[in-house]
Amino acid sequence: MSRPGREGEAAVPDPSPLWALRARWVFPVDQPPLRDGLLTIQGDTILSIGRNDSGRPPRDLGCVALLPGLVNAHTHLEFSTLSEPLGAPGTRLPDWIGLVVAWRRQVLEEAADAAAERLAAVLQGLDECRRCGVTCVGEIATGPWDLRAYSASPPGGTVFHELLGLAEERIQPLLEQARRHLDANLSGNWRAGLSPHAPYTVHPELLRQVVRLSAERRVPLAMHVAETIEELELLASHSGSLVERLKQLDAWHPAAVPRGIEPADYVRMLADAHRALIVHGNYLDHRAWEVLARRRKTMSLVYCPRTHARFEHGAYPLAELLAAGVRVAVGTDSRASNPDLNLWRELRFVAQRHPDVPPEQVLRMGTLSGAEALGLAECAGSLRPGKRADLAVVELPDGHADDPYELLLHCSSGYNTAIPLHDVPA
Ligand SMILES: [Zn+2]
Repeated sequence: MSRPGREGEAAVPDPSPLWALRARWVFPVDQPPLRDGLLTIQGDTILSIGRNDSGRPPRDLGCVALLPGLVNAHTHLEFSTLSEPLGAPGTRLPDWIGLVVAWRRQVLEEAADAAAERLAAVLQGLDECRRCGVTCVGEIATGPWDLRAYSASPPGGTVFHELLGLAEERIQPLLEQARRHLDANLSGNWRAGLSPHAPYTVHPELLRQVVRLSAERRVPLAMHVAETIEELELLASHSGSLVERLKQLDAWHPAAVPRGIEPADYVRMLADAHRALIVHGNYLDHRAWEVLARRRKTMSLVYCPRTHARFEHGAYPLAELLAAGVRVAVGTDSRASNPDLNLWRELRFVAQRHPDVPPEQVLRMGTLSGAEALGLAECAGSLRPGKRADLAVVELPDGHADDPYELLLHCSSGYNTAIPLHDVPA
């Protein structure tokens, strides 16, 4: 085993035996693809790329692409037992929130042991992620959550403890919860983060204090911002169906939300965090883009493509965001808004939906950009000596292509999904 590197520190290789792999195409992500590429591994750490330093013949994986493990930068694994998303396609978010609340109530009423069911759902979600080649997850955990879910076995990632509270009296108790989460002893490759939920559920003072805590404790934040038109309406004029939904849930505190505050103001507040993931950002304006681009070392946008499509939002300006210099990672979001947690399907969807985005960018979004967003790029996200050898494998059609990305992301024939290297039959 190698010691997982903390942020800013590479993993330390150990004296385990050396072994090598060969694949038809190796996609290191931070350099061009290598045909008949080689990779040497020591223990669970990449030793070299492009050559076999093991002193033994490589294991030949055949006609496949070898990739770094995929990064699912945004999900809520408590919903992983849902067999289909809640609501019909095109359901408005305020209605969907009503369905989520009703589903949670039903689980609580019907479960013999709600905590055990929640743990089982998270474990099922982690296993689904692992089976589709994901090795890092940005998980939003809505309390009470169970540390046992986030174990030493893959995948790892960041557990963002969700904070919901518009009422002023909730600020101090939630900050206490946040500190307790950051003090928790997470195992394996898991790190702690915090998730102030959204502008319409978080008191601005709570957000300011959580941002300060993030900077002090050097932990990432994840916040849903500018997800829907209804959110913009709520912020601009304290009206609309999202306000009505919050009133119904006894969760609307108009004094807490300055009328006329804009999503860009929240993005600016989050710029002082150690690291921030802006989740969705479907309706951000150019002022917010400019902040994200200027602070791209610590700020990222997380696009959830199939969830975005399910809610039938307006076109996502992905090419424009990338051209503006915004770092964009990809998430599945949860099974409450997506049919599965398969990040590879998400990337193929992006490749089809956004033909103006170069495929190498698409692959980067699902690997290195996600690792950078979560602060895990020292050990994950690309194939580079010193990083963890958490690898994903994608079967390729046995044909020629001038551009290997065509084989990887655009092939229409045959089997093409990502699986972890450990699941490839010997
Ligand atoms: Zn979310």
